[in-house]
Amino acid sequence: MLHYRITPINPEAHLFEVVLTVERPNRAGERLYLPAWIPGSYMIRDFARHIVTLTGEDSARQPLRCTKIDKQSWQCDPAEGPIRLRYQIYAFDLSVRSAHLDASHGYFNATSLCLSVADQAHSPHQITLLPPPREYGAQWRVATTLPRIEGEPWQFGKFEAAGYEELIDHPVEMGTFTRHSFTVADIEHHLVITGRHDCDCERLLADLRAICAAEIALFGSAPFKHYLFQLTLVGQGYGGLEHRSSTSLIANRTDLPWPGMGDEPTLPSGYSQLLGLCAHEYFHSWNVKQIKPQSFIPYQLAQESYTTLLWWFEGVTSYYDDLFLCRSETITIEAYLELLGKTITQVAQGSGRLKQSVAESSFDAWSKFYQQNENAPNAIVSYYSKGSLIALALDLSLRLASDHQRSLDSVLRYLWHHDGQTGVGVSEADLYRAIQTATGIEIEAQLSSWVHGYDDLPLASLLLPFGVALQAQPLASHSDSGGESAPTRAINWIGIRVKNRPQLTVTQVLDQSPAQFAGVSVGDRLLALNGLELTADNWEQRLNRLPAESEAMLTLFRDDLLLQLPLTLRRAPDQVWRVELLDKPTASQQQQRQQWLRPPLSLP
Ligand SMILES: [Zn+2]
Repeated sequence: MLHYRITPINPEAHLFEVVLTVERPNRAGERLYLPAWIPGSYMIRDFARHIVTLTGEDSARQPLRCTKIDKQSWQCDPAEGPIRLRYQIYAFDLSVRSAHLDASHGYFNATSLCLSVADQAHSPHQITLLPPPREYGAQWRVATTLPRIEGEPWQFGKFEAAGYEELIDHPVEMGTFTRHSFTVADIEHHLVITGRHDCDCERLLADLRAICAAEIALFGSAPFKHYLFQLTLVGQGYGGLEHRSSTSLIANRTDLPWPGMGDEPTLPSGYSQLLGLCAHEYFHSWNVKQIKPQSFIPYQLAQESYTTLLWWFEGVTSYYDDLFLCRSETITIEAYLELLGKTITQVAQGSGRLKQSVAESSFDAWSKFYQQNENAPNAIVSYYSKGSLIALALDLSLRLASDHQRSLDSVLRYLWHHDGQTGVGVSEADLYRAIQTATGIEIEAQLSSWVHGYDDLPLASLLLPFGVALQAQPLASHSDSGGESAPTRAINWIGIRVKNRPQLTVTQVLDQSPAQFAGVSVGDRLLALNGLELTADNWEQRLNRLPAESEAMLTLFRDDLLLQLPLTLRRAPDQVWRVELLDKPTASQQQQRQQWLRPPLSLP
């Protein structure tokens, strides 16, 4: 038995104190470590660097030497009977991945606070949570899905997880949050909101409920007995992390629906994005939390855990997050197709897609996708975006090959009821086998070429039978992200992305672009075009007033050197994609589209 007593001991200094008692330590000396990363976020974060002080004590309350043996591990001297470790942790990262504490609230993932006892990962892990030793501590409540063994719901108390992996899969929020709930398929869902807000919570709950219902209807049953959406609001921020029966979310205060928002068919983009995030993390409860990559069982938390399958676990999940907004009727079909157009555009605008496959992108997530630099569009492809397009191509292919009797839905349902129950995880071969078994369709060669290859996907021909047209059109501006109507006027394009503050500065130079040919570099501060000053507001306008294919002189500062670079302008390429309903679809096209985007839902 392991027991952690966790106190937000000094919120003003952002310090948690943890007292860990190991009832039966290893007689040869206990080894303890804090994970280097948290499942769901594939980057080495070295949580142990936030431990400020650590001391050990033996059963006679005498000091016990605990020697640090690497960046995240301690080796304690041999001891008979229970040992205790007392340590303080600095918690000041307001993200869903680690821990944060101040006078307004506390939040933590156990990966940030709870040392793992190397040889007792499968023993029961108990946590006693205490309020901060402050007057305001009396107002604080607790939101977590950790199984409770002492105390009233929402109060501080005692909790128990069956092992370390379960312990780190139930983050904890403490403070003065607002609490709301709804029921889907007899399962109680809670929404806890931390941070000041003016939310139209009735609206938010109704939309969330519809999304959850659509997802449970797809899988046929849920892997949890209750579920918690834990949302923290900030001025500027965005992120989510999935857990087995909860999700931690961070969003902008302004993303929430407000009482006067009205019932317009087009949702404000911030709200639509927040609902998409909720749909995404909720879907992970099945896809990655239960249906898992083989290499994640068990998680290797001391170092990177490699998998080539994030295109499935993040890509398929991303495909369904937008799709469920449509299926739950929280957004219109047209709005869904616009989101799809943006995803297609995002993938198409990076030449990295021609150099990295989604399997390679998955494997290198640790050092590439999660550590993107200015050359990212030229070098890598997102396993989220392209993965979601592969999921779309797979879904449509299965529907077409089975005369619309089978789909990716059938595959997910099969995986959940089979591989999701075994606890051994899936390999790429298992996924192909599941597709074949669930649909009777042999698609391995095709799918494998999409996953391991560099070619663009045949989306236009796959969408057409569903009464949906995919069209390429020229960029309407250098920051055009696609999805919307065609530009009225052609623009000159040089292939850069810029930031405006503190000066007009190049942040990315795209491969094979006029800017790259001219020698423009990231970090260059743009000053003038043909002798006329460039500003954040006028630089595209100045470019567009010049004749197509003409020569121009670009003046810029690189470091402290003034440079003049001759530049050959080019008309904007067809690099944005629009997905639209056909004007006059056939009855069959209409029917297939309905089955795909708005299938009838039946809850278990
Ligand atoms: Zn995800």
